Amino acid sequence: MEDIEIYDLASRVIGDITHDLNETTYAKLGGELTIIWREEKKFGAFASTLSEAGKPPRHRVTMHYELVRQVWRDAENLCEFLRRIPEDSGVDKLYDFYGDRIKLPKCFDDEEIVKNIFVAAITWVYFHEIGHLMQEHGVIRAEFAECHSNAAQTTDIHDFEASHDKRLIGREALVSHVTELAADFEAMHFYVFELLRHVTDPDFVDDKKRTEVLSGLIYLMVCGLSLLFFRFNGSQPILPTAVIEGSHPNPLVRLEINVPQIFESLDMIGKVIDHGLDRKQLVFLCGKAALSATLYWSMNKTEKHEFDDRFLLKGLLTNPVVLQYLQPIVTCWDEMLPRVKEIRRFGSPLGLMNFTDSFRKRISGVIIWGHGPEGKIRAASPPDAMA
Ligand SMILES: [Zn+2]
Repeated sequence: MEDIEIYDLASRVIGDITHDLNETTYAKLGGELTIIWREEKKFGAFASTLSEAGKPPRHRVTMHYELVRQVWRDAENLCEFLRRIPEDSGVDKLYDFYGDRIKLPKCFDDEEIVKNIFVAAITWVYFHEIGHLMQEHGVIRAEFAECHSNAAQTTDIHDFEASHDKRLIGREALVSHVTELAADFEAMHFYVFELLRHVTDPDFVDDKKRTEVLSGLIYLMVCGLSLLFFRFNGSQPILPTAVIEGSHPNPLVRLEINVPQIFESLDMIGKVIDHGLDRKQLVFLCGKAALSATLYWSMNKTEKHEFDDRFLLKGLLTNPVVLQYLQPIVTCWDEMLPRVKEIRRFGSPLGLMNFTDSFRKRISGVIIWGHGPEGKIRAASPPDAMA
């Protein structure tokens, strides 16, 4: 596919969603959602609020052509790589954990597979920007960041740019991270909802094939989302740290948070709408897709060109550093939530980020370095022992 055809397809996909959102939501609010495309060579997108708080929303999303071009090329290369994995090789055998070695869904042809990864990834990016706008994160950041710099006053929320002019620290960084995760949550909720709406439409797929097509689409979605965050991360895995700095959370941590949201919400919805996939199947499906993306990325895009499990999902609760990172995030979100609910423009309450009680208990139970037994030893020692 030529670059120009990729841009055309992206404009159609995003244009259709914009049109629908204007008809179903913005028109009722007396507002408008617009989309702008930029030619600047950036792997990025951003959201802008052009209206004042309390007035009908005039929202704008700006997407870079470079982002959609890169997503398409990554999707194409991923599929080619997966098809070329030699049978019975060590890499091939890694798939046995998931019950079979099928690496790409059989219900789509080659072009449909690339297209589905592409559409899933760019739609998710678009929904993430909508997430910022629905919750008016420009206003939230200005109110909660306790910062008097001009940067905090802006209504533009920039995304997916590897470098920033100003590296945020302290409260400003914390508020920025929290709003990013809240926008991710809205995006994923939107995405899952739209996916189910799509597959339950009898014109799209009939009853007999519904579960197979749904699992194919979930698999390709996780591939697309992984590629997006790997691209944002770069060739060296950024290791998680509990320190909150910069405008965005670690891309690999974001992926760790987002993928479970897919199977958690589909599992929950499955109790109401029978989509034919149980929790175990959903978890395996997402895990297998994440493995495929990790294999592709680490064996093609890193210096060593070998499988690097630091890119692989390990489960959010397994890393104390990530849990520690999430402690202030949860507290800050609790502080913000009442105000977010007040100014949120539209959307189901299920799109608001939430942390379950058991999750809260788990993260608050993490002992920070220096407060565990090692800290007591130090505190109990006479002062001169430090010399
Ligand atoms: Zn964002």
